[in-house]
Amino acid sequence: MDGNNLSQRLKTVAKYVKNNRRVADIGSDHGYLPIYLVSVEKASFAIAGEVAMGPLSNAEHEIKLAGLSNQIMPRLADGLAAIKPTDEIDTITIAGMGGALIAKILEQGKAKLAHFPELILQPNVDEEDVRRWLVDNHYQIMHEEILKEDQHIYEVIDAVKADQPVHYSAVELRFGPFLINNQNAAFVEKWNDKITRLQSALHQMQSAKVPPVARMQRLNAEIEQIQGVLKNARN
Ligand code: SAM
Repeated sequence: MDGNNLSQRLKTVAKYVKNNRRVADIGSDHGYLPIYLVSVEKASFAIAGEVAMGPLSNAEHEIKLAGLSNQIMPRLADGLAAIKPTDEIDTITIAGMGGALIAKILEQGKAKLAHFPELILQPNVDEEDVRRWLVDNHYQIMHEEILKEDQHIYEVIDAVKADQPVHYSAVELRFGPFLINNQNAAFVEKWNDKITRLQSALHQMQSAKVPPVARMQRLNAEIEQIQGVLKNARN
């Protein structure tokens, strides 16, 4: 993978970046996403924000190699601290991290969201944390995608600031308001895998000397919820 040859996962993030945007990619690692966005002229300007020196050096190297140092600024910073008001960022991408960390980065960087940039987020796990942060901060989900690549299943969420408070049900927050209504093979596989893991945990608990009844009831309820969501799509 490089800036001209992105993974399907990062290509899906890039797909939701509108044309001629000013993008901050937070947790940019090699800077592949901003390099791609500027190369295909989706971004006119980009920041590659990184909290760690090694990945930042990689990004600096790749940006120079691509000849894009005038348009992409590598910055060593924690989260949205990479963004300056003069950057006039209108799109933020955060990909390849856990949902809890993405939500924390957004929460801690709220001051940098004053002009309501579009958020394109790709949590590797705990997507519900991201959706909850979006709802709490009046961001509406415009698109969602779930895809499988190299044995991993990824979700991508594109959200914009809403004029009105946004409401999603508990089920929508967990499974994704768009994903739940358009269940593809990756969605079904992800949640069937989850059922298998929960059932295996249940079996272990059943064979305990003192089975943890309350915990087992919670796991059973969780399994039933997932089965209900998958069944609804088949009907
Ligand atoms: N975004 C790239 C992608 O999706 O391929 C890189 C993902 S990599 C697994 C996560 C990167 O986020 C690492 O390079 C890490 O140093 C960086 N990171 C983690 N926490 C961060 C934070 N608070 N602020 C900026 N970067 C962070």
